[in-house]
Amino acid sequence: MTSLWLDPAPIIETDGADSPRAFDEVVVGAGLTGLVTAVLLARAGRRVGVLEARTVGAVTTGNTTAKLSVLQGAHLQHVRRRTSERVLRAYVEANLAGQAWLRAYLAERGLPVQVRDAVSFAASPDGRSTVEREVEAARSAGLPVTTQLAEQLPFEVHAAVRLRDQAQFDPMDALAALAAEFRALGGVIRTGVRMTGARVGRPVRVRTTAGEFTAERLVIATGIPILDRGLYFAKLRGHRSYAAAYRTDAPLPQGMYLSVDSPTRSIRTAPEPDVAAGAPELLLVGGYGHEVGREPSPRSRVDGLEAWTQQVWPGARQTHRWSAQDYETPHGVPFVGWLPRGRGRVFVATGYDKWGMTNAVQCALTLAGDLLGELPEWARTLRHRVSRPAAIGAGIGMNAAVAKHYAVGWARAMTRPAPDATPEGGGAVGRATRPGGRVPLPTAVSTVDGVTCRVSGMCPHLGAVLAWNDAERTWDCPAHASRFTADGRLLEGPAKRGLRTR
Ligand SMILES: Cc1cc2nc3c(=O)[nH]c(=O)nc-3n(C[C@H](O)[C@H](O)[C@H](O)COP(=O)(O)OP(=O)(O)OC[C@H]3O[C@@H](n4cnc5c(N)ncnc54)[C@H](O)[C@@H]3O)c2cc1C
Repeated sequence: MTSLWLDPAPIIETDGADSPRAFDEVVVGAGLTGLVTAVLLARAGRRVGVLEARTVGAVTTGNTTAKLSVLQGAHLQHVRRRTSERVLRAYVEANLAGQAWLRAYLAERGLPVQVRDAVSFAASPDGRSTVEREVEAARSAGLPVTTQLAEQLPFEVHAAVRLRDQAQFDPMDALAALAAEFRALGGVIRTGVRMTGARVGRPVRVRTTAGEFTAERLVIATGIPILDRGLYFAKLRGHRSYAAAYRTDAPLPQGMYLSVDSPTRSIRTAPEPDVAAGAPELLLVGGYGHEVGREPSPRSRVDGLEAWTQQVWPGARQTHRWSAQDYETPHGVPFVGWLPRGRGRVFVATGYDKWGMTNAVQCALTLAGDLLGELPEWARTLRHRVSRPAAIGAGIGMNAAVAKHYAVGWARAMTRPAPDATPEGGGAVGRATRPGGRVPLPTAVSTVDGVTCRVSGMCPHLGAVLAWNDAERTWDCPAHASRFTADGRLLEGPAKRGLRTR
């Protein structure tokens, strides 16, 4: 389960425990959002420290499919329907700015970028109207899209919209270059340092697993925000999806494709890392996503992706398989700016809905504008957006679904006893009283590689009962998308600690 980009991960120099602890700004999270923000601030002469819980790119940026595109499946119509024409135009402008910044950054450093057309397509007759709406939304925002599908694809396409001159790249190339530039400017990167809380005074005191850091201002670039102020966890929905790379002798389509119907299928190529392999490119296929913790068998999604790939490219040999999650806002526009109750000293960026290659950069440009005083015009329009009833309804729906998962999860867990063990690769939650305890509580039992683990079955974030992910052998929270290893270590999400052993 290692992504093509992290195999092998580039060597990225970071700093040790003897590095400074007081900064102008602390940025938490070394994904694309955090590192672009850090570079922009450091270029302006700020003293900046980046704190990363795991390693650079370990979570979503290192496990993306890295299409750098402003045509984004069926996303533009979603933004249009839930906000306004004006906001849609600003959204497109912001994404063009993010795309241009990153393309120039990669080009200036001679890093490989492949220029490709982006194509959103309907895989079924039902998807045709979605493609038509995307054409309309894209044109109304000024994008020169066309509807011809000139190339022959090895699967049926019922309608398509194309935007020329988009790009694909290796996201770890970008992170490695950003980290190197940042450190050359005097920035500090600490990895293996998890932020656990903050006291927002003057200075802001950032609590971490490696002690306290101080800063005038704090930027939270952790995917879903890890501070509960602003209640962003309740305004976001986590989506997990799967990707795989393949070797095949078949000719590969040369665009970046994304189906607008379900299951989502994403296709691109990537340069073959092994020059002796024969064909110059690998095939990348992704999609088959679901809401985090809410799919009874994520394994069946992975199997679906593999079965479809084998049907279209018979005999394709898998070289890598990976998965990741990203967060959706009710209106399709990222949240970026001051964190409520952060006294103007805490900033956040989140909610890219799987379009973070452009959105992370536009949010970093916005954050730099907030912190350094030059906010782009499109950022002002996006900030003052008004949500239409469709977006408000989507927000209510998100919270109703969370409430349902709390109720169902607790009811199920408490009506059956926790098993002593599960079959290999399995996990189950049931009630059990821990030694010395009085009250039975949800207890999660799993067996992975012959080792049976018993941990708390409740998410330490807000107490929802966890669900077993049979594809990745993890415990996933259906409420706000935190994830844990079988033995309880925190992987990602708004939780700040792992699961207690039972
Ligand atoms: C399967 C998949 C495919 C995608 N494909 C595309 C695509 O083709 N094109 C596109 O534009 N977008 C795509 N995206 C979206 C894009 O990858 C993401 O939006 C983007 O990578 C998010 O970057 P980030 O920096 O916000 O988050 P991340 O890369 O997740 O970085 C956040 C960092 O914060 C760290 N962190 C978390 N909590 C703490 C803490 N308490 N203390 C310290 N550090 C912490 C994490 O360890 C992590 O490294 C895809 C997403 C998925 C899931």
